[in-house]
Amino acid sequence: MRILLTTLTLAALALLTPSAAAQIIDTDGCRRCDHQGVVPCGEHDDDIHDYEADVEFCSVVARCEVCAGALLVDCERCESGPRSSEIAERQAAVAAWLAEDPMSDFLERDVPHVETQRFTLVVDTGTLKNGKKKVDGHRVMHMVARDVEEVRARIAEHFGIAADDYFAKMRMWIWKDPKDHVAVMREFLRSTSTGDFKLLGKDPVFSVYTEDLFSTVPGVRRLFTHNATHMLLSNAYKMLWTGDTGGGWFDAGSAHYYEYMLHELSINYCIEEATLPLDYHGGEWRKAIRKRLQKEETRMLPRLLPMNTGAMTLPDQALCFAFYEWLVHEHPDKLAPLQKALKEKRSGREVIEEVLGSSVLAVEDAWRAWIDERYPTRGDELRKPKKK
Ligand SMILES: [Zn+2]
Ligand SMILES: [Zn+2]
Ligand SMILES: [Zn+2]
Ligand SMILES: [Zn+2]
Repeated sequence: MRILLTTLTLAALALLTPSAAAQIIDTDGCRRCDHQGVVPCGEHDDDIHDYEADVEFCSVVARCEVCAGALLVDCERCESGPRSSEIAERQAAVAAWLAEDPMSDFLERDVPHVETQRFTLVVDTGTLKNGKKKVDGHRVMHMVARDVEEVRARIAEHFGIAADDYFAKMRMWIWKDPKDHVAVMREFLRSTSTGDFKLLGKDPVFSVYTEDLFSTVPGVRRLFTHNATHMLLSNAYKMLWTGDTGGGWFDAGSAHYYEYMLHELSINYCIEEATLPLDYHGGEWRKAIRKRLQKEETRMLPRLLPMNTGAMTLPDQALCFAFYEWLVHEHPDKLAPLQKALKEKRSGREVIEEVLGSSVLAVEDAWRAWIDERYPTRGDELRKPKKK
C-alpha cells in the first residue's frame, strides 16, 4: 500500500509545474511566515503579544475564538513549517489550564486571570484611567503582572532567592464589584471580612476592590507592587510573616522600597491601605527624610526596631524605607541573612548586630551619614556618592 501511494504521488508530482510541486512537499514554511509555518494571531495587537510572552497563561487570550490561546495560527500561504505542531500543543495546555477555574465557576462568568512564574492574579477592574487615557482591563492586568514579576526579579537579585525558596504561588485579586470581593472571601477563604484582605506567610492571598486610591491604573499598580513584596518575603525561606515578630522595620521598609523603585514614589500605607488615605510628602520621601534626620538628633533605630509593622506611623515607615535603601546600596549581601535570621523570630536589634557585625548605634551612625551624603536637598533623586 505504501509503495503504491508513493508511486502515485510521484506520478502526480511529475504532472505539476516545478513550483507547485515544491509547495506540496514543502514543510519548511514560506517567506510570509518566515519559514515557520505559523503566524501571530491577528486578533491581538503587538503589545498584547509582548505582554503574553511574559506570562504563563492568560484567560483573556485563552478565550480567543481564533487561536484559543495559542497566539499563533496556521500560515495560509504554505502547507506547514517547523512550528506548525506548536499550535495544537499550546491549545491543549491552555485548555487544561482554563478548565481549572473555580473563580469563574463560582461567579458564573469569565473572570479575567493570569498566571505568571510566581503569581496568580485576578484583575477584574474593567477599564481604568491612566491620567486622561483609558486602559482596558486586559492591559491593566498585564501591567500589574509585569510589576509583580519585576518585584520578584529584584528580590531574586537582591537576596539570591531561587524558585524553590518559595512555598506557594502568590494569589492577588482585585474586584470592581465589592460584592464579588465579599462573596469570594466567604467561599474561598472562609472569611467574613468586607474590607481589604491580606494573608501572609503560608499560602499568601490578597483581595481588594477598586475604590478611591485603587481606581486608577497607577493606583492599582502601586498597590500590587507594594503588597507583592509583603507576600513574597513572608513566604520565602520559611512561611512566616515577620512584620510582627521583630521584623516590622524590614517588612515595611522593603515593601515601600520596591514600590518606590518601580513607581518613583510610595503612596501605600502598610495597614488598612484603603481606609486610611495618609499622606507623607506626596509619596516623595527622600528630601523630607534627610531634613528630619538632620533636625532630630534622637536615635531612630532603637525606637523603630522593636515596632510591629502595624504599629508604625507612615513617617516611621518612611524611615524604614530609608534604612532598607541603605542596606540595598551598602550591604546588599546582608539582606538574605537578615531576613533568614528574622524568620527565627529574633529581635531586630540582635539580628542587626549579628549580621552587620556592629552595634545598633554604630549602624545608625553609618546609615545617617549615608542619608546625609546621598539624599537630596531638592528633588527626589539620589545624589552621586562622594569619591572616597
Ligand atoms: Zn507560510
Ligand atoms: Zn492576556
Ligand atoms: Zn487569538
Ligand atoms: Zn505595606
